[in-house]
Amino acid sequence: APEIAAAPDTERVEAPTGASTLVEVLLWHAEHSPDHVHIRLLHDDAEVGTLTHLELLQGAQRIAAGLQQRGIAPGDAVAIMLPTSLDFFTSFFGALLAGGVPVPMYPPTRPSQLEDHLHRQSGILESCRAPVLITDAQVQPVARLISTPSGSLRHTVTARELSAGSGSPAAAAPRAEDLALLQYTSGSTGNPKGVMLTHANLLANIHAWSRSVAITAADVTVSWLPLYHDMGLIAAWLGSLYNGCPLVLMSPLDFLSRPVRWLRALHRYRGTLSAAPNFAYELVLKHIEEPELAGLDLSHWRIAVNGAEPISPDTLEHFAARLAPYGVRREAMTPAYGLAENTVGLAVPPAGRGPRIDRVTREAFFRTEAVRAATGDASAIRFVGCGQPLPGHEVRIVGPNDDDLPDRRVGRIEFRGPSATAGYLRNPEETRKLLRGGWLDTGDLGYLAEGELFVTGRVKDMIIRGGRNLYPYELEDAIGALPGVRRGCVAVFGVADPATASERLVAVVETRGADDAERHRLEHAVGNLAVDLLGVPLDEVVLAPPHSVLKTSSGKIRRAATRELYQSGVLGRQHSVRMQMLRLA
Ligand code: ATP
Ligand code: MG
Repeated sequence: APEIAAAPDTERVEAPTGASTLVEVLLWHAEHSPDHVHIRLLHDDAEVGTLTHLELLQGAQRIAAGLQQRGIAPGDAVAIMLPTSLDFFTSFFGALLAGGVPVPMYPPTRPSQLEDHLHRQSGILESCRAPVLITDAQVQPVARLISTPSGSLRHTVTARELSAGSGSPAAAAPRAEDLALLQYTSGSTGNPKGVMLTHANLLANIHAWSRSVAITAADVTVSWLPLYHDMGLIAAWLGSLYNGCPLVLMSPLDFLSRPVRWLRALHRYRGTLSAAPNFAYELVLKHIEEPELAGLDLSHWRIAVNGAEPISPDTLEHFAARLAPYGVRREAMTPAYGLAENTVGLAVPPAGRGPRIDRVTREAFFRTEAVRAATGDASAIRFVGCGQPLPGHEVRIVGPNDDDLPDRRVGRIEFRGPSATAGYLRNPEETRKLLRGGWLDTGDLGYLAEGELFVTGRVKDMIIRGGRNLYPYELEDAIGALPGVRRGCVAVFGVADPATASERLVAVVETRGADDAERHRLEHAVGNLAVDLLGVPLDEVVLAPPHSVLKTSSGKIRRAATRELYQSGVLGRQHSVRMQMLRLA
C-alpha cells in the first residue's frame, strides 16, 4: 500500500478572526505560529519544498524591498507570471507589503496557442498598467516577448533578482477597502476583465465559504489548481492560510500528466478539502487504472468541490461510485457555483449534504420553465444543485424586464453581498453591464427551487432556435462521449442567420479519425444526438483536427472565439467542403 505521511501536523493554528486585511492575516500567523508548515510543495509525488508562516513573511519582505527599489508606488499593479512554486506566494505578499496590488497571470507553457496567449497577456498588462512583471528564469524569455503598447511595463524581473537586494521595505499597512487583488476573468466569453477585489471582499468571501463548508485548522487542503485563477488562489491557498490549515500543492501539469497524483496526495496527507472543475473528475475516471488505486484511503476527503464550469450529474455519480471502494463518500461530492465578480464562491450546499439532482421536462425547459419531470420520463434534463448563497450573500433570478421570477422559472442570475466587486478596472462599459441597480449580473442563467440554485448556462452560449432557448452543454457532452471524438473538445454554438430570427446550429468536433467511412459515421451520430437532445437537426458538423476548439488557460471552452474562427473559414476547411458535397450528393 502507498505510504502515509507522518501524522498530520498536530499543532493547531488559531485563525486571525480580528484581521481586516491579508497583510494582517500574514502578520498574525507569522507572530503566533511562525514555524507552522503552511505549504508543502510536491513534484512527481515527492515533497520538494515547504514554506512556514515566518518564511512566507520574510520572503515577502525581501520581494517588497526589491519592488520598492524599482519604484513601485502605492496602488501600482504588480504582475506575477510564475508557475506553481514557492516564489509565487512570497511574490504575492511581497506586492502587498510594497503597497502594490498583485495580478496573477498565466505563464504560457503550451506552444500550440502561444500567439493567442501572448495577445491576451499583453491585453492584461495594458489594462492593469503594471510597471513590474515578476517571473522566473524559465518563463522570462517568453515573458519578454510580451509588449504593451503604452510602454507601462518597465521591468520584467525574476523573483530571485527582486530578493537579491539588501534594502528593507517600508511595510505597507493597507486598509480593508484597498485593492488586494486584480483577478482577471477566464475570458470564456471575450477578453479577460480585471475584477477589482478589496481586502474586505476577499476576507468576506473566505469567512462565508469557511462557514458554509465548516473549515477549521484541522482540515488539510490538497490542490493542483493553477494559482493565477481564483479557485486555486483564493479558495485553496488564501482560505487555507486564513484558517491555518496546511496546503499540499502540486502544479496543474503534475496533475494533468498523471491524474493519480492528486489522489495519492489526498491519501498521503489525509487531505480533507480539495476542489476541481468537472473535467478533472472525468480525467481521473478516464485515466486511472485499478492497480494504481490499490491501497488508497481517501476517507478523510470530506469536501470534494466541483465548480467553475458546468457540472455533469453523470460525472458526480460515476466518480463517487468508482472511488467508493477507496473511501470516497457520495456526500463528499460538493457542487459549487462562483465567479470572480463575487471574489470566488457564491453558492454551495452545506458540508456533507451531497449532490442534489433535479430532473425537468425537456420541452418546457426550452421555454424557460423548469417543470419537475415524472420518474419515468426518459427525456428529462438533469441539473445539479449548487446549494444556497453563502451567508450574507443574496441571489435572485430575473426575467427579461428585470422582474423577479418565481421558483422554477429560468432567468438571469443576479447577486449582491460583501464579496461583490465594485467593477472592472478601466472598463466602464463592461462595469455598466455588470452593475444593475444594487445587484450584479452574473451573465449566467438559472433557476431557484426550494432555496437551491440551479445553473443552466451562460446567456452568451444560449442558442435561440425557432423561439426556443437551447444550450450547448448537454449536446457537447454527449458528442464528446462518442468513440473517435476527443472528449471535452467539442463546441456547439449558434450563428446568426440574417434570413430568419433563428440561428444556424453548428458543432465543431475534434477528431483524429482520417478514414472517410468513419468520419461519415461520426457526422451521422452527431446529427442524431442533436435531434434527440435539442429536437432540431444541426446545420453543420465540422470535424476538425485536435486543438481546433479554443479554450481558456483554465481549460474552459471559448465558444464565441471558436465561432469566429469558424466564420472566418479557417476551421477544418476541407471537411466542411466535404460536408457540402455530401449534402449535394
Ligand atoms: P469571462 O467572464 O471572461 O467570460 P469566466 O466567466 O469563465 O470568463 P470566471 O469568473 O473564472 O470567468 O468563471 C465564472 C463562470 O464560470 C460563471 O459565470 C459560470 O458561467 C461558470 N461557472 C462557475 N461555476 C459553475 C457551475 N457550478 N455550473 C455552471 N457554470 C459555472
Ligand atoms: Mg464571467
